[in-house]
Amino acid sequence: MKKFNKLKQPRNLIVFLAIILFISITTFSTLVLANQNTIKVDASVVNIRTGPGLSYDIMTQVVGGEKINIIKEENEWYKIRLSNDQIGWVASWLIGNTEFSAASNKLGTISAESANIRSEGNLDATILGKATKGTELTVLFQQNNWTQIQYNGQVAWVSSDLIEITAEKKSIIPIVYSPKTNEDTSIEILTVRSEGTNIRSGPSVNESVLFKASKGDNLTYISTEGEWYKIKNSKGQTGYVANWVVDLSGNQTAAPSANISSLSEATIVIDAGHGGEDPGAPASSYNEKQATLKTAMALSSRLKQAGVNVILTRNSDDFVSLNDRAYISNQASADAFISIHYDSTEIPNEISGTTTYYYHENDKNLAETINKQLQINNPLPNNGTRFGDYYVLRENTRPSVLLELGYLNNTVDQATIYTDSYQAFAVESIYQALNNYFSS
Ligand SMILES: [Zn+2]
Repeated sequence: MKKFNKLKQPRNLIVFLAIILFISITTFSTLVLANQNTIKVDASVVNIRTGPGLSYDIMTQVVGGEKINIIKEENEWYKIRLSNDQIGWVASWLIGNTEFSAASNKLGTISAESANIRSEGNLDATILGKATKGTELTVLFQQNNWTQIQYNGQVAWVSSDLIEITAEKKSIIPIVYSPKTNEDTSIEILTVRSEGTNIRSGPSVNESVLFKASKGDNLTYISTEGEWYKIKNSKGQTGYVANWVVDLSGNQTAAPSANISSLSEATIVIDAGHGGEDPGAPASSYNEKQATLKTAMALSSRLKQAGVNVILTRNSDDFVSLNDRAYISNQASADAFISIHYDSTEIPNEISGTTTYYYHENDKNLAETINKQLQINNPLPNNGTRFGDYYVLRENTRPSVLLELGYLNNTVDQATIYTDSYQAFAVESIYQALNNYFSS
């Protein structure tokens, strides 16, 4: 699922594009350092997205002064790596303003008998596939007679002569877990993350500000519309708030569920970190996304053997947005959400070992139970249980942890991680810990 804001009329779009153009001319404040692939963020807050387009989910934000490493540039978007190993994208032209998240909301229909879908907006670019007449595609934007579209979960291009803009987008993204407007029954309360947060009349930054909310305010959740929540405050006033300025920490259910007395009765969501276009931490022989999938699949079989209801956020090399991962957990009312990752640092061989992260205070018990087990017979050092501001934990209303099971750019860790014995150790430790957690 990708979430979208509304741009109801073409006029709004023109105004929006004019604003972007104005901002890009006047306040372009990204400093590209000549000697290395680093940009320094000069604005107060910048959205980092899961893909190179405004329609992708916001995964996190970075604040002014922070330096981010650029992996590559693609169609005016920077693919970047954050300090916590997350990969994201930032629009080069949006650096310098805080609130832009408006997304293209248009649908295009292929008007030619057959149209080539290309990796870039020119005739020499690689053909990714063909679309036949009548195929509907999400349109991101158009420039120089080329239309940028979403195609099989990636950004692609088609000649503008071969596609007609036909309608407002409904719910047409291939990975569909939630409709555009829905009611998430696992959410009741939204907590405002910063002072003076705008509550608007509609689900877009183009809508007027009705009132402001203070840091720590609890808002009553009504429904979800794209990247926005419809809310009611304590005075009974309703409005819309952007999902990246609130968190769901007020919704934590006490864990474990009272009616579960053993692991076999539980629903466990296993989240193999990264995947598809997001390789995670790079390594000489394999990427993080491969390592996480291997561990996740082995853990899944182990739990299934024990009769556990297992849900995997991915079971192949697919890109799944962070938002979808949390959503899967929330919708399934998971009794535990286990996100599997492998770490890396800027400097190789700097750190070694495993770390267990939690975000919500209520999840500390689950984190400590798992980490305790990971300390037994671990061939690698154990770095303990820590607070971590990870999207899949923060936006999760279910008991959730994120495990970093070793450093891919540490020579010792890397030689250990992929061995059958280490994989068995990791799987067995998590299994035992969950057993203890649900029977205590
Ligand atoms: Zn990772």
